[in-house]
Amino acid sequence: MAVRRSKTVTIHRRRFLGRGLIGAVTAAVAMLVGPARAEWRKMTKKEAGYIAREKSASQMCAQCLYFIDPNDCVIVQGPVSPRGWCTYYGD
Ligand code: SF4
Repeated sequence: MAVRRSKTVTIHRRRFLGRGLIGAVTAAVAMLVGPARAEWRKMTKKEAGYIAREKSASQMCAQCLYFIDPNDCVIVQGPVSPRGWCTYYGD
């Protein structure tokens, strides 16, 4: 009878520790991923120093790494002009 009780306690302890470990890992992942997700947003045009130009130039959105045709940007809130430019221009 005493041995049986001991086994039962051991199983419960394992389950408890296993669930605790899963909970701890989940909380750690949430702490790492959560804030990064919450902070990710596109910059405003003002933050990026965006300017819309009338004429073509050597550096403009249409040639930028972050440009999404026809008038969007990966890192700056759109719409952006293909002839626009900002301080984060990437070539
Ligand atoms: S220059 Fe590049 S990063 Fe800046 S707004 Fe245009 S496409 Fe986006």
